[in-house]
Amino acid sequence: MAKAPKSAFTAPELREFGKLIDAELADLQREYDAALIALDDLQHNRLDTAGDDPADAGNKTFEREQEMSIANNRLHLITQLQRARVRIDEGSYGLCENCGKTIPKTRLRAFPSATLCVDCKAREERR
Ligand SMILES: [Zn+2]
Repeated sequence: MAKAPKSAFTAPELREFGKLIDAELADLQREYDAALIALDDLQHNRLDTAGDDPADAGNKTFEREQEMSIANNRLHLITQLQRARVRIDEGSYGLCENCGKTIPKTRLRAFPSATLCVDCKAREERR
């Protein structure tokens, strides 16, 4: 059986990234919860739009769509960060999922959830 690729980072470095990810996850979770609460409020407001003029109703729909896209976006980021967290625990964090090269630390500091190196990311986006 092939051995799982090992991260190029040392245990203290992995711990540092773990902390970064945990902090970011906590923030995103808060934002996600807030978006869900806002959506819930908007949902309730919608029930008494009977007297609203069409412009108001349109605004509420727009607001709802905005909150919905915030919630979806946060959920997506949370999922990505959770995946990165697992990779830290497995010791494969920081390796490009596509080519297996080590992702530079500067990139991971800016995007702790990055799972692709810059080259592979660029290639993926061109597709
Ligand atoms: Zn790569």
